[in-house]
Amino acid sequence: MQILKKTNLKAFEKAKKLGPEGVISLIKEKGLAGRGGAGFPTGTKWEMVRNAEADERYVICNADEGEPGTFKDRMIIEKNPETLIEGILIASYAVGAKKAFIYLRGEYTCLKSKLNKKIKEVLSKAKSDLKIEIFVGAGAYVCGEETAILASIEGKRGHPKVRPPYPTTYGLFGKPTVINNVETLTNVPLAVMFDDWNKDTRLHCISGDVEKPGVYEAPLGEKLSQAIERAKPKGKPKAVYFGCFGGCMPYEKFRDLELRPEKVCEGECMLGSCTMIVVSEKRSIVDVATNIAKFYEFESCGKCTPCREGTMRVLAMLQNISVGDAKPEDIDTLQELAEVIKETSFCGLGQTATSHLINALKFFRKDFEDRIKK
Ligand code: SF4
Repeated sequence: MQILKKTNLKAFEKAKKLGPEGVISLIKEKGLAGRGGAGFPTGTKWEMVRNAEADERYVICNADEGEPGTFKDRMIIEKNPETLIEGILIASYAVGAKKAFIYLRGEYTCLKSKLNKKIKEVLSKAKSDLKIEIFVGAGAYVCGEETAILASIEGKRGHPKVRPPYPTTYGLFGKPTVINNVETLTNVPLAVMFDDWNKDTRLHCISGDVEKPGVYEAPLGEKLSQAIERAKPKGKPKAVYFGCFGGCMPYEKFRDLELRPEKVCEGECMLGSCTMIVVSEKRSIVDVATNIAKFYEFESCGKCTPCREGTMRVLAMLQNISVGDAKPEDIDTLQELAEVIKETSFCGLGQTATSHLINALKFFRKDFEDRIKK
């Protein structure tokens, strides 16, 4: 796997020879873009932080991998922490940061001591005076959102804030801050070092009704069926969910779909961080939707009404449908509610909390109707 290659601080040495501007230009030239879902160009983000007027700057590695079905950051932290730490060193050097944080998902506390040991080893080998602190979150999904991460590290409640200002100009403690996720930062030394590094290689997390769930490395643009068949589906796949926020699509209809963000959008889903959860034809989409709705109802941070109240109502309605205690017209009400939550919620969590349901009602409406008839 490309992502597991070690660079043994050679990329950091090369970055120092290039100088901060040189390394930013190289990252821009190589075309590295954020792997957390938004795909913002990494070099451009670094340049904005470097050019912002400030006496201090920070780098934050977002290791708050909370999306259901996503476990690639954990694999990187376990198998290639050295290259991740080298990526943090290069990013900090490029933007002029003296302190960096790794915001570790609360559920990944078990990785903290080994990662701390690696940080000490790598910093001492690199003879760097950069400080890297691991900050363990409390397990809130919303803290994957960058303004909520900032609030959490600052000791406040992990609530998202209005943007602008963006973290590149007004970030941690009001200072310009780079926030990149684990996969992005691990790719930095690889992009700096290797001529054959490919910006279009992605990590796929495939799970659900498959024999071989796991992390697979594949180029952007392969067909959906190629990715899914690699994980050996158990029985006939009925639907593929792109995590929970990315929505779902019927497998047979979209089996030849190219896995690229713009193509997946045409199927009314979001590729995001390339998470795919396979649902076999033996399952009812009503049960899957109810399960996902429980997740969002639990994770809603409560700041805004559409998401706080709406996710509770969606769950209650789905539970009614599940037990055959709903009326046919409830399906339309559920659809309307899902659209309102999407359109009126404050942050990305609420805006995508019902994507799965909107798609499910479009592509698998019969599953809902059948449950009502029973
Ligand atoms: S959309 Fe949900 S998670 Fe986001 S601010 Fe509103 S209540 Fe919180």
